[in-house]
Amino acid sequence: LEAQFLRTQRLDSLGTLASGIAHDLNNILTPMLMSAQLLQMKISDERHQPLLQTLTNNTQRGAALVKQVLSFARGVEGKRTILQIQHLILEIKQFAQQTFPKNIEFKAEIEPNLWTIFGNATQLHQMLINLVINARDAMPNGGLLSIKAENFYVDETYAQMNIDASVGPHIIINIQDTGIGMSPEILDRIFEPFFTTKEVGQGTGLGLSTVLGIIKSYGGFINVSSAVGKGTQFQVFLKAVLQKPVQPTEDLELLAGNGE
Ligand code: ADP
Repeated sequence: LEAQFLRTQRLDSLGTLASGIAHDLNNILTPMLMSAQLLQMKISDERHQPLLQTLTNNTQRGAALVKQVLSFARGVEGKRTILQIQHLILEIKQFAQQTFPKNIEFKAEIEPNLWTIFGNATQLHQMLINLVINARDAMPNGGLLSIKAENFYVDETYAQMNIDASVGPHIIINIQDTGIGMSPEILDRIFEPFFTTKEVGQGTGLGLSTVLGIIKSYGGFINVSSAVGKGTQFQVFLKAVLQKPVQPTEDLELLAGNGE
């Protein structure tokens, strides 16, 4: 536990440092990008266009990275309401069907009468989309990406087996792919900020640390299992509330066990 505490503390200060740098970098990149785009319009000599395009592309890439670092560090504030996670899943399904390669099949399965969640739609959407994009990236030759959402009651026995679990109603969101999978060495490090196996410019290594930060801020937890060459499964457990999404928020805040 001591080690885990120190590790969390180390990651927290890393986050603070990263967000400080990201913020300053953003102020540097914005005028750079504007200048690059202006130059691109003003310089009519076609021979210079590829150079200018490289400049614009990479400044844009830097800006996207900075944005991701900031959202990782900022993470978990934001107004929460009672919401139905199935709406987010269906939105993500639509996004996947419109933008993912055709050789990736997307399947969504949602338990009828799924419990609700006291949460922030933007954060939960970001959490899910990060997992879904990783699943896509793990299937360069296509495959099946499935999301399943179901109610799950964590009882005493289950909570004793999982140190991060707390007794009560939860929703499990299962995100599974048939992709490249992970070795135990990689699996061990995936939640570290800036850990990535993707090529420079492709991955920031902040996706899963953001995912973990969001889940923890909901008093939830995440399990991963993976097999090289077979695929990966992420199981997200989020505390559920047994209320319809129309209840007054005061009561629901208590029910959701918020304020930890
Ligand atoms: P990034 O996607 O920018 O690399 P992440 O924190 O989201 O950062 O992921 C870290 C690493 O975890 C990835 O580079 C990859 O090696 C591994 N990973 C995450 N999800 C999967 C998956 N579904 N299948 C295989 N590897 C994965």
